[in-house]
Amino acid sequence: MRVAWHPERDEFVKASDVEEEFGKRTLAAGDKFEQPPARCRVCGRNLTLVKGTPKIVAHFRHPALLFCPTKETARAPYLRLRPVDPDPEAGKRLRQIVADRWQDLYSELQLLVPYFSLQEFRALLRRASSQRLWEHRGLEFEQLARTLVMLADYPPWTGYQGRKLWFRFWYDHGIRDVADLWIRPNDPPRLFRASFEPPASIGGRPAYEDVVAIKDEWNQPDWVPRLGSRQIEQIDNWLAKFL
Ligand SMILES: [Zn+2]
Repeated sequence: MRVAWHPERDEFVKASDVEEEFGKRTLAAGDKFEQPPARCRVCGRNLTLVKGTPKIVAHFRHPALLFCPTKETARAPYLRLRPVDPDPEAGKRLRQIVADRWQDLYSELQLLVPYFSLQEFRALLRRASSQRLWEHRGLEFEQLARTLVMLADYPPWTGYQGRKLWFRFWYDHGIRDVADLWIRPNDPPRLFRASFEPPASIGGRPAYEDVVAIKDEWNQPDWVPRLGSRQIEQIDNWLAKFL
């Protein structure tokens, strides 16, 4: 990546600026000079400066083997979603609970995703079905919102009017299988939400360079739309057929 936290100050800097400020030297055998590490804006860990050459632009690099969502290829979800050992009966029960209590689920998702729309809600449920997410053993209704939220990105145009940023979620390192979210209840993984400037190009996806803010605390949002009785009826009917 090309932008990170400055090694010493709380500001974002480009790799080329760090290179300029701390010199073009890198650590060599027997050399006492230590390049101060920059810090990743997404995972907070140290980054090594890779100096620019005529062929490559100066950039920052994570240590090998450590997980950071910025290292993943942009379109591949980093979480494995499909159950390895599906439990269709449990899936049926869970879908029935969703049909009965979908408004609670929707409210929880509204807490996580600003301007979360019914269109997005339906899209998440469709995706959950196509991935057979319901059939995970041990998955309970209470964990659904924080699991479903991982199934999509949230650009401005799929949310309710007023959303200006693009949102994406991830869990801290170590979580690679969605089932890890509920098999360790005493050590709940941290959920992060990044806000991005939407990309200028149609069909583009924001890069981690475009991150505006990262959040891992969830308060009541300023604005939450109320559902009208017609909307409730529509979703009830849709779920009765869909789930
Ligand atoms: Zn990182």
